[in-house]
Amino acid sequence: MKKSHKYDELYEKAKVIMDKYNPCMFDNKTSLCIRNALKKSRGEEYQTCGCCGHKNGFITGERCKHFKKGIACSVKSLACKTWLCEDAKKNLPSKELQKLDKICEEALFYSLYKIRASKKEALCKEKKMKKKCLLITYHESGDEIHFILVDIKHKDYINKILSKIMSVKGKIDDIDEMIDFIHENKIASEFVQTYTSEKWFSKFEIEEVIHIPQLGE
Ligand code: SF4
Ligand code: SF4
Repeated sequence: MKKSHKYDELYEKAKVIMDKYNPCMFDNKTSLCIRNALKKSRGEEYQTCGCCGHKNGFITGERCKHFKKGIACSVKSLACKTWLCEDAKKNLPSKELQKLDKICEEALFYSLYKIRASKKEALCKEKKMKKKCLLITYHESGDEIHFILVDIKHKDYINKILSKIMSVKGKIDDIDEMIDFIHENKIASEFVQTYTSEKWFSKFEIEEVIHIPQLGE
């Protein structure tokens, strides 16, 4: 089966589940999904427009380029259709969650899993790396894991900001600066929950890995 057909097939399967159970419980009046409505009710920082609201889950950052006022998502995004935070997961029966997991696994297997990407973007092949690169991993809220590849030449600069963050003088601005830098200079990235495919890693020549401990809330 062609990748394009596989993409459509998996997307439709996920859509059936999402349409039936509406796990995010998005409220058009307040622009809040269940997770952010709960955060607001607890007096915590929250964001509007759910996962589409802020880049990489951080409070600073931009809305997804595919988010359009009035219609929300303007593209067909398989990864976004299957990704759920822990609060939204609670609104799905475990059988449906398992089905969703299977869809994710298949999407990863066929390299179709790309968060915040349209179908066209997901089907575009990432350039094969010739340069050596640095893999940076970090996670937010427990199970949201980011894998970012940057040119190895940025290693010293990233390490310098990291040691500043880890020192007593480290500030939230330094973290934002580092995350912005990493994303502005990325060669490729993956944003997944608890797993990513070995196939994805095998495309790159990874010289070193930096894991950044818990970020975000
Ligand atoms: S997955 Fe969670 S954070 Fe994302 S829109 Fe749904 S409820 Fe909100
Ligand atoms: S691509 Fe994903 S993050 Fe962007 S608007 Fe669509 S659902 Fe939201």
